[in-house]
Parts: sequence; C-alpha cells; structure tokens
Amino acid sequence: MQRKTLAIPGPVELSDKVTAALAEPPLSHMSPEFVTLFGDCIRMTRELVFSTSAQVFIISGSGTLGWDQVSVNLAEPGDSALVLNSGYFGSSFKDCLNAYGAQVDEIKSTLGSPVDFNVLEKALRAKKYKIVTFTHVDTSTGVLSDARRIGDIVRRHSPDSILVLDGVCSVASEEIRMDDWGIDVIMTASQKGLGCPPGLSILCASERAIKCFKARKQPVASYYASWTKWLPIMSSYEAGSAAYFGTPSVNLVRAYHASLVQILRDEPRLQARFDLHKTVAQRVHDAGVSLGLTPVPASRNVSANGMSAFYLPEGIAGAEVLKRLGQAGVVAAGGLHVDIKAKYFRLGHMGASVVEPEREEIDKLVDALKFTFQRQDEGKATARL
Ligand SMILES: *Cc1c(COP(=O)(O)O)cnc(C)c1O
Repeated sequence: MQRKTLAIPGPVELSDKVTAALAEPPLSHMSPEFVTLFGDCIRMTRELVFSTSAQVFIISGSGTLGWDQVSVNLAEPGDSALVLNSGYFGSSFKDCLNAYGAQVDEIKSTLGSPVDFNVLEKALRAKKYKIVTFTHVDTSTGVLSDARRIGDIVRRHSPDSILVLDGVCSVASEEIRMDDWGIDVIMTASQKGLGCPPGLSILCASERAIKCFKARKQPVASYYASWTKWLPIMSSYEAGSAAYFGTPSVNLVRAYHASLVQILRDEPRLQARFDLHKTVAQRVHDAGVSLGLTPVPASRNVSANGMSAFYLPEGIAGAEVLKRLGQAGVVAAGGLHVDIKAKYFRLGHMGASVVEPEREEIDKLVDALKFTFQRQDEGKATARL
C-alpha cells in the first residue's frame, strides 16, 4: 500500500533534500563543519523573518519550549502580561506564563475570529503590560491574526511592551516582517512551515527583548531554558567557534539548514512561497465550500494559509471522516479547540506539499475531500461514508 500523505498542521511532508540531510551521519557539535552549518542556520533564520539584528536561539525541544523561553526569560514573577487568545494555543501560552509567576490578563476572541483591535487598544490604554502575546495562526481554528496591524497598535499605544508572536504554525508559510512590524519575539518550531521533523525550538528576539532580559532583577528560574546559558552559545557559533551547553540536535540542524537553503535560495523565492501558500489555501477553501463544508474561520481574510479547518456535516463523526480521508491516502487531523472539539476537522498544507506541486499532494488532498463529502440539494455537505 502507498504511504499516506501527511496533511495535518505539523509535522508535515519533507522535501527530498531535507530527508537526504537527515540520512547523513551525525557531526561532532564541536567540528568546524557544524560550526559553519549552525552559524548559517542562525543567519538564515534572521533573513527569513526580515530582521537585521534579531538574536536567534535554536534549541532542542518542541515549539512549546518557545513559551517557556519567553515566560522564564522575559517575565519576572509579578510582571504583567496580556495574552491575545484566538484559540487553544493562546490558552496554553497563558498557562505557561502563569506557571512562571506572571500576572496574566487575556483578551479572548470570538471563535473563528482574531481578537478585536478596538478591545486591544482599550486594554493597552487602561494598563501597562510588560509583555503582549498573540498567536499568529491559531492551529486549533485556522484563524490568522494580522501581525502587522497588531504590531502597529502595540507600538503606538504601548511602545515599551515586548510583543511576542507565536509563529509555530506560521513562520515560512505566512509573511512576517519582524523589524518593520515592531515584533520583539518570534517563536516557532521545526515541524510546520519550516518543513523539518519536530525537535527544534527556534526563537528570534529583538534588541529590545534582549535588553529587557539583561535588565532582569531576579535570576532565571530555569536551567535548560535560560538565555543566560544559551546567549553565549549562540553568539559563539555565529562568530565561528564552537561552544557547549547541552548537545545540539546535530542531525536536525543539518535538516534545518537544508530546508532554509531551499526556502531562501531556491525557487520559489520567499515572496512567491507565501503567495503559493495563499493560492493553495484558497484552493482547499474553495474545494471544501463547493462540497458544502463551512470553514471555521469567519472569513477568508482571517484564514491561515498553511492550514484549513472545516466543520463536520451535521451528524457525522470526526473519526469516520478521518478514516475515509485515510482511505483516500490522506492523514488529516481532528478537532482541538475545546468548545468545538468533536465538530470539526483540520488539514495542513505547508512546506514541500505546497511549493513542490509535482508531488501532487494538494491534488490528492482535494480529491480526498471529494471522496469523503458530497453536497446535498440544500447546499450543505454530507459524508459519503
Ligand atoms: C504546534 C503549535 C505549538 C506547539 O508546538 P509543539 O511543537 O507541539 O510543542 C504552539 N503554538 C502553535 C501556534 C502551534 O501551532
């Protein structure tokens, strides 16, 4: 039987070059070859988010480690944080900040929409927040927040706040201009838009964020996640010499390097890559809607381009739909958002599947939707189970 196509919002299908990089034997983390590779990864990560000066951290761990890095290095116990919650992942970020003692306020969006900008403005005028966080793409709903607009509002109404973008489900599939948009931290992971296996927590911190870290009064309440430990390591590798604190995932770094080279140096170029994700997202959206499915995001302009979420037809179980999609050769994901968990399903379309159309994985995904659903007379979908 043919291997099924992974069409979940991470991990995603890998390009052949990334798979080949993973098959290479491990390097010594102290070798000149690895120093060059790792230094290049740091520099290319900065390029990917259009920053000239961000401090980059590449640390073994899943995306979740990004929340810990932010919460433990930038917030001191009692510091105020504002979480813009547009779904499951906002709630998790809040929990993580709370775990390290931050005082967290939250603005919850309406399900299917990002946080209301007027409510954000009002909150920033009413109280001073040291940290403001938002989820660029909330993977539980497929809702895309307008990062440029949020950056604009925060810089205007609360210029000293550290603005944190959770980009685990958006980096490399959505455009992010860190410096221009006034974003202080972008945290992401290797296994979604970046097209690698899971295992790397990748974070970019602005000069303002690093200054805020250095102005801490209390020691960092973590050993592994402490930037006190990692800053000299990252600086050393970037300057061309090896340093040691916790063995880096040398094989994953090689895979990440291969992926970054493809993203930044190969065709399609970065802007074309973002455009391709938009085209594919529109195609998946149109396919679902023409079958009578209702997307979870309220409109196309608040929809992610690297994933989709659709409500299940009335009376149809998610497990049955995933099984049927599986019969068509596609692995999809179930619901995650607590309010609607059993009522919808999710699809990922990021990385190689999108930028290498010759793989025909998006065609397969659209065909799998047609194999699974049909439009009824009244325009609603039903499942062909
Ligand atoms: C996947 C995801 C995370 C968590 O990443 P893990 O690698 O699963 O730890 C955090 N935030 C967002 C937006 C995500 O999509």
